[in-house]
Formats: sequence, structure tokens, C-alpha cells
Amino acid sequence: MAGGLGLIKLHLIFGAIIGAIFGSFANVLIWRLPKGELPWAPPYSYCPHCRSSIKPLDNIPIISFLILRGRGRCCGRRIAFQYLWVEVVSMLCSVIVASRYPPSSMAQWVMLFSFCFFQTALLAVAAIDWQTYTIPDLLSLGLCLVMFLASPANELLGVSPLGRMAGSLGGMIAGGGIYWLFAAAGKKIYKVEAMGGGDVKLAAAIVGALGWRSLVPLVAVSSALGLAYALPLLALKRLGRRDPIAYGPFLSVAAIILLWMGPAIFKRLIFIISS
Ligand SMILES: [Zn+2]
Repeated sequence: MAGGLGLIKLHLIFGAIIGAIFGSFANVLIWRLPKGELPWAPPYSYCPHCRSSIKPLDNIPIISFLILRGRGRCCGRRIAFQYLWVEVVSMLCSVIVASRYPPSSMAQWVMLFSFCFFQTALLAVAAIDWQTYTIPDLLSLGLCLVMFLASPANELLGVSPLGRMAGSLGGMIAGGGIYWLFAAAGKKIYKVEAMGGGDVKLAAAIVGALGWRSLVPLVAVSSALGLAYALPLLALKRLGRRDPIAYGPFLSVAAIILLWMGPAIFKRLIFIISS
């Protein structure tokens, strides 16, 4: 194909647009799922203050927020800044993953699309778990299903389409299994539920998407992030020993970092840990 530069730009633009659109859906999930509302129940988009429905032109990710200066056209009240930053972070993450996995075949476009979906779903998980200490099954199990359906195109999971599907299933069992053991051990040792079933299902989805090689790096990076967050707060007594900490956000961020790093880092991290 002519014009390598044009192609490079095309997948970055694809990442930006898809990321912003997914980010907009993520906002709907973050807003609705903790309240037990289904994301596809009408009206699809409504103002959180006056509940009047939002016109499509006022609902363009990022752009509408900036044009309306963060206020609803309906009632003029402030729209939470979270709406903007979820869309912006989702867009940036998708552009980064597009630059890391530039597609040159139809299957690789499918892979890139699934990775963008994966990342934004993880952002939604992180935001919901951070606020509510729960991870909705719709997100964790939905992610398992979507990443399995996309697995024949996922080059992180193996060489042949069938091998990749097996790799995805094996990854889910390995990821879910290890975290189920962690949860069971935590319950035995500390007599409290240190880790919930939501984390188990989320780990299954992540390792089912990134492959079993990502398991050890995922445990290492997510724990390191969690400690980096909790230890200073414990030292400053801003956090008590018995206070709950949501683990989902650290799992999610670790998974996104590992996706950016790619399979090379999986082997290196396993080597560092085992040496
Ligand atoms: Zn309104």
C-alpha cells in the first residue's frame, strides 16, 4: 500500500476516535452500574441533574464538554469533571496502544479494536471499584467473553487461531485460579475478606486477554502499585490497618501497563523475579 505515513496516522486516528467513544460508554457504565441501572436502558443519555435527555450533538465525546464548558445545555448545571477525564484518558490509552500495535492486516485491526475495548473497560472497572469497592459482573465476565471472542486475532495468546482460543481459556483459568487461591488464603490467615470475587473474575479476564505469561508480571506490578499507594498512607496514618482498599484499580492499571509493554516485558519480569 502507498504512503506508509498515511497508514501510521490512520491507526492513531482510529485509536483516538475509538478511545473517545469507548470513554463515553465507560462514563455511562460508571454512572449507572453502581446504581443497579442497566447501561442500555433508555433514555440512553440523560442529564444527571434534571434527567432530560441529551441531544446527539451535545453528546460528542470530549468536544461537547469543552463547547458547553462543562455545563448541561438543559439546566446549565455543572457536569462532573470525571466525564471529561474518563474520555480523555480512554482516548490517550487507545492512541498509545495503537502506536504499540500498528495493524497491517484485518486480524490485527480486530486485535487493536479489542485492546482498546479492553483498556476502557478496565478504566471503568477501576473507577467503579475505587468508588464502591465492587466490580460489576457485567464488566468482568463481559470482558472475559469479549476477549475470548476476539482471541483468534490476539497475537499475545499464541500463533494459530485455535491455539490463541485455547490460550485465552487457559489464561482465564490460570488468572482466576491464582487469585481465587489468594482470596482463600487471605480469608484463612486474616479472617477477613481481603480480596473479593470481583478481583478473581477480573484477573481471569485480564490473563485471558494477555496470556498466561502475563500472570506473574500482573501479580508483581499490581501488588507493587497497591503497596506504593497504601504504604505512604499507612505511614501518615491517613489509612488504618483495617480500612478496605480496592484492588481492582491496581489490577486494571497493571494490566494496561503490561499491554503497553508487550510480551517482551512478560519474559523479562518473570526472569527478574525467578533469578
Ligand atoms: Zn440538566
